[in-house]
Amino acid sequence: MERPNFYAALPLDRKSELRRDDAFVVSRLEHREARFVPVWRTRNLVREGQAPQAVWLTRTRIEQISVSAPVYLGDWDDVPYFAADISHLEETELTIHAPEGAFVDLRGVGAMMNRDEGGLLAYARGLAWWHSRNRFCGVCGAPNRAEAGGHVLRCTNPNCATEHFPRTDPAVIMLIVSGDKCLLGRNRRFPLPMYSTLAGFVEPGESLEDCVRRETFEEAGIRVGAVEYRSSQPWPFPSSIMLGFWGEALNEDIVRDDEELMDAMWVTRDFLRQEHDPDKFRLPRLDSIARRLIEEWIAAG
Ligand SMILES: [Zn+2]
Repeated sequence: MERPNFYAALPLDRKSELRRDDAFVVSRLEHREARFVPVWRTRNLVREGQAPQAVWLTRTRIEQISVSAPVYLGDWDDVPYFAADISHLEETELTIHAPEGAFVDLRGVGAMMNRDEGGLLAYARGLAWWHSRNRFCGVCGAPNRAEAGGHVLRCTNPNCATEHFPRTDPAVIMLIVSGDKCLLGRNRRFPLPMYSTLAGFVEPGESLEDCVRRETFEEAGIRVGAVEYRSSQPWPFPSSIMLGFWGEALNEDIVRDDEELMDAMWVTRDFLRQEHDPDKFRLPRLDSIARRLIEEWIAAG
């Protein structure tokens, strides 16, 4: 089997076919070993160290915090897991209710974590964020109420009753290649001299291949011919899935979009295999699909 990307291939059984059964969800909630994945203002709870570990909260602790609607994530080795948004707590209260560990941005620690735990934290963060942004119905403005273990939000106005589902926004990410060279860009948002693949959000009425070609031309002036799908990665920061491609360049003269990119250049496999001064050139983080697209291309040459 192929190697999954970070945050993908969770060992957890989502039991999505059972979530609409309220009695089932209640039975999981009342399970004596139920574990709660706390999310505080998009941050996850971890015990920091060389290999940061996820910290779960027990039902007793969650009852003290009064979480309105924990979201059922699924069962892992027959133990139910729930996401619990505790953002209503003040920062000073966190040490009382979650005395172990610290709330951190998962993107800073994910690559060092056990992959299963990292994936579970990402899943919880994604659902908590969706709930926080969908308190009210987008059709009529009435409050929404959670159903199906928190995987559906239904409008409480009986004349509307619209069901809202969690969003996942597709984004393409592509390594554009020309013979033994690939195209890397330095995004204006990157704080470090990090060179990465190009990427962009898919628009309505656009195929993934269309999007790869449009974004590459807009950002770097490069026309793309053949496009090859490679792998995908859930990226709930806050709500994307990254769809990874290799694309074949039809020209090499870069016309850079200054607003997006500070720099763009063609680099060879030999260049990428060398050691570089990290103050001048770095590759993307190890947990990113961008890094994988680059490394698989280096290995293929
Ligand atoms: Zn409504």
